[in-house]
Amino acid sequence: KRTTDLKAKAAAQLKASKEKDHPPPPPSEVTEPPSSDRKNGAVYYVGKLLGKGGFAICYDAKLADTGKRYALKIVKSQMALKMQQKFQTELQIHSKIEHQNIVQFHRAFTFENCTYLTLELCSNGSLMEMVKKRKGLTEAEVRFYTIQIAGAIKYMHEKGIIHRDLKMGNIFLDKHMNAKVGDFGLAALVVTGNDMHTIRRTTLCGTPNYIAPEILQKGRSGHDHMVDIWSLGIIIFAMLTTKPPFQSSTTDEIYRRAREREYDWPSDEKRIISPEAKMVVSSMLVDADKRPDPDLIVQHPFFTSGYVPAQADISPKLRETAPH
Ligand code: ADP
Repeated sequence: KRTTDLKAKAAAQLKASKEKDHPPPPPSEVTEPPSSDRKNGAVYYVGKLLGKGGFAICYDAKLADTGKRYALKIVKSQMALKMQQKFQTELQIHSKIEHQNIVQFHRAFTFENCTYLTLELCSNGSLMEMVKKRKGLTEAEVRFYTIQIAGAIKYMHEKGIIHRDLKMGNIFLDKHMNAKVGDFGLAALVVTGNDMHTIRRTTLCGTPNYIAPEILQKGRSGHDHMVDIWSLGIIIFAMLTTKPPFQSSTTDEIYRRAREREYDWPSDEKRIISPEAKMVVSSMLVDADKRPDPDLIVQHPFFTSGYVPAQADISPKLRETAPH
C-alpha cells in the first residue's frame, strides 16, 4: 500500500509541476463588463502567449470593435496579500502615466475571477532578450536607447514617481523597436509637493544586479529617485557588454562589489568600448547625491561625440529572430 501511496503522491506532484509550467489555456474571448466610460463593455479576442511574470501572464489580444491589438495582462484574483499590494500600487501609478517611452496603460477590469489589464502591445519582447540575441549593441544603438530611457525617467521623476526596478527585462520593445519602460509593480510615489501621496516601503525591492547600494542602507538621503539613475548606469553597461557589471554567484557578493564599485570592462578585441561610453557609466555609478539627472546624462560627451540614430534600425537579421 505504501508504494502505491508514494506513487500516487509522485504522480500528483508531477501533475502539479506540469500545471505550474503550463497554466490552463485562457478563454479565447474575454469580456470587459460595461462601465461608465464604456457603456457597452467590450470584447477581446485572445491570441498568443507573450510571457509570464511573477504574478501575471500576458497574451496578445485584439479588441473586437476596432481590431486594435493590446497586451492583455491577466492576474489571478486569489493571490497573496503582498502581491495584491504590489498590484494595487502598479495600477495606481501606471494608470496616471502617458509617455512615448513608457508602456501605455489602457484599461483594468475583472472577468470570471481574474483581473485584466490592457496595455500597449510591445511585440518585440524585452531589451534583455534583444541584447542577448545580438550579443551586445553598437554604441549608436546604446545612445538611442539610453536617450529614450532617460526621457522616460525624467518624465517619471517630474511626476514624483520612482520606478525602482529598472532593468533590461522590464524594458520592452514595440513594433518599431522603440524602448518602453514597463512593470510598475515596485514603483513608489515620493513627496515632491504638498499634494503628493507618500508610499514608504521598508521592504527590500529591486533586482540584485541593478540595485543601488543606498537601498541596502538604513535611513534616507533625500535622493531616493537617484536609484533609477544607478539602474540606468547598469543598463548601459549591460547593453554594451551583455552582462551587468557586478554579476556574481551570490547576492551578497553582488552587493559588496556594487558598494565598492568593483567592475571591469571586458577586454575583447572584437568589441572596443569607447572611453566616452566608459565615462558615462562611471559618472552614474557614484553616490546618489553625485549622480547626474537625465538632462545632464544626455549632454555627456558619449552622446555628442558620436552618431545617434533617429530611429531604431531594424536589420533584416534582427527581424528574422524577433517574435511578432
Ligand atoms: P510581472 O509583473 O508578473 O513580472 P510582467 O509585467 O513582467 O509581469 O509581464 C510578464 C511577461 O509578459 C513579460 O516578461 C513579457 O514577456 C510580457 N509582457 C508584459 N507586458 C507586455 C507588453 N506590454 N507587451 C508585450 N509583452 C508584455
